[in-house]
Amino acid sequence: MIFKVIRKEGLKELFDLLTRDNPVIGPVEIGRDKDGLPLHGFAEVSEFQGLSLDYTTTKLPAKQYFLPYREELASFCLAGKDWDKTVDYHCDRPYVLFGLHACDINALNKLDKVLLGGAYPVPYYAAKRKNMFIVGIDCREPRPSCFCRSMGSDTAQRGFDLFITDLGDRYFVEILTDTAFNCIKKIGSEEPQEADHLRYRQVVDQRNKKFTTQVDTTDLTKILDMEFQSEVWKYWGDRCLSCGTCANVCPTCYCYTVQEQTALDLRSATKTKMLYSCNYLDFAEVAGGHNFRPHSHNRLKYRYYHKHRGFVEAYEESLCVGCGRCGEACLANITVPEVISTVRGGTI
Ligand code: SF4
Ligand code: SF4
Repeated sequence: MIFKVIRKEGLKELFDLLTRDNPVIGPVEIGRDKDGLPLHGFAEVSEFQGLSLDYTTTKLPAKQYFLPYREELASFCLAGKDWDKTVDYHCDRPYVLFGLHACDINALNKLDKVLLGGAYPVPYYAAKRKNMFIVGIDCREPRPSCFCRSMGSDTAQRGFDLFITDLGDRYFVEILTDTAFNCIKKIGSEEPQEADHLRYRQVVDQRNKKFTTQVDTTDLTKILDMEFQSEVWKYWGDRCLSCGTCANVCPTCYCYTVQEQTALDLRSATKTKMLYSCNYLDFAEVAGGHNFRPHSHNRLKYRYYHKHRGFVEAYEESLCVGCGRCGEACLANITVPEVISTVRGGTI
């Protein structure tokens, strides 16, 4: 990794350089909550001033730009006696994602393991991932629901092109790719001095002190094995509405369903993929109407076992980055820290 420092104005120059040839997606304010506090989301931005780089966590993750909630996989059209099949990866040009937090970068790294490195790489995801230039930015104000530090996702080592940390009077830049190096060369930079390294560590330490939620993941896979029959699952499952919101706002959930539709004249058809949730009632329903997980507690338990046990067994890391989105969005107030605490033996 190469380290540089740039002037404060350098960030806008970098943005202008990147927007010259590419569409840029970044964090923007999308409204206010009931207390008047800003709500954020990702959207295409054309002006640097339109970015809200001091955002905390967006309501929806940036996953939508890699794994759209709804995506046509193929279309078919009858041409004479044969079918013409058209496949479009929906990625016509390189994009820039400007201002992604470390937790969300780590979420993409986890998706990569399955969708790029798994037994069946997904070309639709690969095309978008390969064509996205990612500028990471440090998160200064973790929300009370954030527990990314407990999940080891509060810093990113890979999965971005460059990563910016605000040192106060300048930015510290971590560079991972040639393209990023050439961009930084164009806007001008300096070698970081010992004082910059010291300031960087101070900034990170100050941020770390602001986390108020911790999750104890020690021996969690073993504890989950031991507590498979625990009443805790029934308790949380009975509260769960099976609405699937948690999976939809989660940056690492990738379960999906596929729908095939044929036109009434039988001359064309489409195959569409839609992100789905393992909490939905019919998620484990198979032909003949048998449902392997008919109860909400079966399904809620499955989601936790996939994220905190099965994925760890396969990839030696959890499928949760601790962004806290699911707990904030859940109408039944089911949060990962509380569920894990009760599974570990805490009071319900
Ligand atoms: S958001 Fe809450 S209520 Fe809805 S499925 Fe997830 S855990 Fe259940
Ligand atoms: S499970 Fe919840 S806290 Fe974990 S990554 Fe998904 S949305 Fe974030």
